Amino acid sequence: MTLTTGPASHDPVRAFPELAPYARTTIRLHPRRGAPGPRDSHIGGPLWWPADEPWPYCAEHPDVNGRQQGPYPLVAVAQLTAVDFPEIRFPESTDLVQLLWCPEWHDQPHPEGWGQACRLFWRRAGDVTEPLVAQPDPDEHWERDLDMIPTACVLYPERLTEYPWRDELPAGLADRYEAWLEECGLVDDVSTVPGYKLGGSMRWGVTDMPETMACGECRAPLELFLQFDTYEYELDGCDGRAPERFRPLEERALEPKSEEWRAACEPVGMTVGRGGHAGLFVCSADPRHPASFFTQ
Ligand SMILES: [Zn+2]
Ligand SMILES: [Zn+2]
Repeated sequence: MTLTTGPASHDPVRAFPELAPYARTTIRLHPRRGAPGPRDSHIGGPLWWPADEPWPYCAEHPDVNGRQQGPYPLVAVAQLTAVDFPEIRFPESTDLVQLLWCPEWHDQPHPEGWGQACRLFWRRAGDVTEPLVAQPDPDEHWERDLDMIPTACVLYPERLTEYPWRDELPAGLADRYEAWLEECGLVDDVSTVPGYKLGGSMRWGVTDMPETMACGECRAPLELFLQFDTYEYELDGCDGRAPERFRPLEERALEPKSEEWRAACEPVGMTVGRGGHAGLFVCSADPRHPASFFTQ
């Protein structure tokens, strides 16, 4: 299956040639419910995890009164391979990255971060000779309807060109670009790509981007690794997002509000923040440095 984003109605570089050097490739992941295998790239499926390595736990899990709870096994959220995503800067001799988190909100390594406690594991798939078959069941500890527990999804990646959110552009250009987007009603059409994606730029529409986006360990800039979103697109979005472009061409015949439409629009089934989106940001110099989650 292929899923294709519609063409942008305008090319911002025709209006602003000075925007050209800021163009980035983002990979829309297009997760769709399915049964991924343990060696596949996926959201919410089984991990290619070595049987002899302890499963990670959230050991510092406070209840509302600050009392220690748990420890709870972390939830498998995503797995990405170098074969599917050669754009990922894998540390030397690794070709597989796995994301696990505690679904409750926790403080982040970045002082302004807010959201799930995330851990990334970088490994070489070939090193796993005996994979762990019986993996912790998140439904034993969490409520799927309330907590950030992903529905298992297969990925149908699509590469798109994207221009950064205003906070990442030089002030003068950002002001002129922003005014043009608003004047032409294009904020939702040619600005940052919604939905699950790898790399690119995140929309900071709720809070501004923190002034300093630096790694706590080495001060290198943080960069967007994975974006999580409540909706892949919206038909009549409450935040005014133009829906058509981001509704895959192959799915436009789906009856709005039908079960199939819902599965395409909210495949992962997680409400991010208050129905918004979030980004996991990693160190651009060494992605093994502690990553921070920012919820919008
Ligand atoms: Zn926790
Ligand atoms: Zn760093």
